[in-house]
Amino acid sequence: MTAPTSPGLVPDDSTAVATVLAAVDAQREDAVGLLGHLVGIPSIGGSPAEVEIQHVMADLLRDAGLDVEVWDIDLDAVTSDPAFPGQEVERRAAVGVLGTIRGAGGGPSLLIDGHTDVVPPGDLDQWDADPFTLRRVDRDGVEVLHGRGACDMKAGVVASVVALRALRAAGVRLAGDLLFAPVVGEEDGGLGTFELLRRGVRADACVIPEPTDMDIVPANGGALTFRLKVPGRAVHASRRTEGVSAIEKFISVFHALTDLETSRNEVVHPLMQRWRLAYPLSIGTVQAGDWASTVPDLLVAEGRLGVALEETPEAARAALEAAVAALCAADPFLREHPVRVEWWGGQFAPGLSDCRELTDLVQGAHRTSSPSARVQEVYGGPYGSDLRLLAPHMPVLQYGPGDARHAHAPDEQVTTDDMLATARALTLAALAHCRLA
Ligand SMILES: [Zn+2]
Repeated sequence: MTAPTSPGLVPDDSTAVATVLAAVDAQREDAVGLLGHLVGIPSIGGSPAEVEIQHVMADLLRDAGLDVEVWDIDLDAVTSDPAFPGQEVERRAAVGVLGTIRGAGGGPSLLIDGHTDVVPPGDLDQWDADPFTLRRVDRDGVEVLHGRGACDMKAGVVASVVALRALRAAGVRLAGDLLFAPVVGEEDGGLGTFELLRRGVRADACVIPEPTDMDIVPANGGALTFRLKVPGRAVHASRRTEGVSAIEKFISVFHALTDLETSRNEVVHPLMQRWRLAYPLSIGTVQAGDWASTVPDLLVAEGRLGVALEETPEAARAALEAAVAALCAADPFLREHPVRVEWWGGQFAPGLSDCRELTDLVQGAHRTSSPSARVQEVYGGPYGSDLRLLAPHMPVLQYGPGDARHAHAPDEQVTTDDMLATARALTLAALAHCRLA
């Protein structure tokens, strides 16, 4: 048995620690089966399966002995809320689920928030097999599980369910409430978590078991989608010097944006210093011209602007607009025909959680439950997640199985060991945070 060194755990808890960890380990094969079941539901954002998987989750949580609330999300009401973070897919229906293990009272509550939606598989030819059939592969004695959503983040959802089942099976009575919310719409804006908060669900701390390779991620950079309309003046290509090419004008715009990206990354928050480029400004699409022998009179470019941890989206938008305006002011043609900047699609604020105590607690739970694991790092993610929605309301961090570089990719994968290790740590984190009754 491992000595309980987790903050919040006292020696008297050692029997409970040993019992719940054994209850996690006993579920190893069931956990893989459950992941296979969930990966088999192609719960792509906006699809009917995104609704179906929530009902499956509700049944699972009921079977695990939780109090379960299931409700149809009122999409009209949510999407017309001025604070709604937006969505990028069409949805006819969405379902909210909240499972609770009620505490005896007197202890802090913990929320585990995990999304059940996945991104589409992309080009099927790049997959070795059906993305929605979990494949178990032995890699030098380590079991690797492949499938869409295996890493992002159904393994984290399974780890949560395993942890909840272990606490119930061990007969442990917590003082504080332990809540688990499987949510939808994370990949395209955060509908499910926004709805949860709108419904008034709160806790004293939150863990999101997103794939962090079991590091601690208490912050996310923001991302803003923009569109640039760069004008030109059309003329026959044989007289090109008498026209203005929108493509040539865009090249100067592109250089101005590259300079802006450099200056925005000169000083970055300590949590973001591990990234070569913490806040990228990336152009994703460029379309110009409609005829090979015509000087193009319009170029439309779309891209994504990274938002710094302590920056507001308004300030980031203003910085890009100012850079474009300065370029236009210095160009005789663009001064008269300025580049237009539009903000559309995802407008994701950054998130930065004040969660020192929670970090210590999860690190302690991780160390205690996996003593031989490598030392965890603490850093900010360069991508967005539901953390930004939760951070204003409670201390929150991401901690979960799988490496985020496999997320959204055709080689999406997670190891069974990491999924179980996360379940072990979540169990101890719940014990330490919610306390024994
Ligand atoms: Zn995710």
